Amino acid sequence: MASVQLNGLTKHYGEIKAVDDLTLTVHDGEFVVLAGPSGCGKTTILRMIAGLEKPSQGQVAIGEQVVNDLAPQQRQVGMVFQGHAFYPHLTVQANMEFGFAGRKVSRAEVHAKVLETARLLQIEGLLERFPQELSGGERQRVALGKTLAADPQVWLLDEPFSHLDTNLRYTLRNELTRLRQQVGITTILVTHDLSEAMSLADRIAIVHHGQLLQCGTPAEIYDRPGSRLVAESWGLPPINLLNAHLTQAASNSVDVAVDNSPLRVTVHGNLEALTEGQSVTLGIRPEDVYVTKAGGNSPQNGLPVTLVRVERTGADALLHLQCGSLDLIARAASRSVAELSGDLRIDFDPQSIHLFDQDTGLRITQTATST
Ligand code: ATP
Repeated sequence: MASVQLNGLTKHYGEIKAVDDLTLTVHDGEFVVLAGPSGCGKTTILRMIAGLEKPSQGQVAIGEQVVNDLAPQQRQVGMVFQGHAFYPHLTVQANMEFGFAGRKVSRAEVHAKVLETARLLQIEGLLERFPQELSGGERQRVALGKTLAADPQVWLLDEPFSHLDTNLRYTLRNELTRLRQQVGITTILVTHDLSEAMSLADRIAIVHHGQLLQCGTPAEIYDRPGSRLVAESWGLPPINLLNAHLTQAASNSVDVAVDNSPLRVTVHGNLEALTEGQSVTLGIRPEDVYVTKAGGNSPQNGLPVTLVRVERTGADALLHLQCGSLDLIARAASRSVAELSGDLRIDFDPQSIHLFDQDTGLRITQTATST
């Protein structure tokens, strides 16, 4: 195992800047998820760590060693892609053994390591089969095993489960969690799947246009996004973002009025220099918007809303709401939806409100971030 240090990493493809001056340390044994919109440079970052792409600028170090000039096979990095390629004429066992090609390891050692890894991944029963005789889930398990058996210092996983069905993804995610506990290898995973990232990562690195926007624990990224961009890119359904302005600003609280709406809220906290009238973006996650029947426990900030549409997602339902000219999404338990008829109001806890500067997009309240 080893740490991975990316220092000012940049990659140009002609006019395209796929990765832009990116600095990030993944600590020894840490599990970091790279996330961000399609085309933001995630795969290119993994490929530069693996040695499959040469950086235009900057350094990749594994452990204490700068590896820019090392060939992929000299880096001891295992990389798994979606739709991982196998040698079709070799059995699973032979494919797994191939990961040791070019290394000075005895046949007996290779054999033992492959068997040990197959046991770990519960694929012993597949060793005699050929790749085309495997299901999608089995192939991905074998792909994980093939790279893991060769004892990599760093494991790079590029959306390894993205083409599998939801149940299988969930099973493999849990297997990965179990593997982590047993092997504890330094891992970088690229995924678009929020719940996969939240459940597996020690830290999540949000990348946008090749730049690192924020890197932090799942809770930091979700609960204290450092910018509007991070808040927007992390959460499904996306966070509600409303244009607003400050009607009163003090060092420990501000009154916020949502533009073109009677929606008002007071936010307390350690707030930096703010001025009355300043334009801000108010962010509120769908699960922090409470919808209640009017007349019950009348909420302090409650405002009348119209329920436009209910989108059932399973245990939860997404409530598409209209509050004057504003469109909002709230998340509620599916079972509670039947009660939501007649006059409805919305309310939210001021503690769960995010404020962003409208010019810079940066969070106004303090943000915990680490690189
Ligand atoms: P996705 O989530 O869709 O897989 P990504 O975040 O992994 O995307 P990359 O595949 O790293 O993004 O691509 C980053 C940018 O670099 C994109 O604009 C892509 O078109 C471009 N790019 C990637 N590889 C090449 C290449 N070999 N030649 C030219 N442009 C490339």
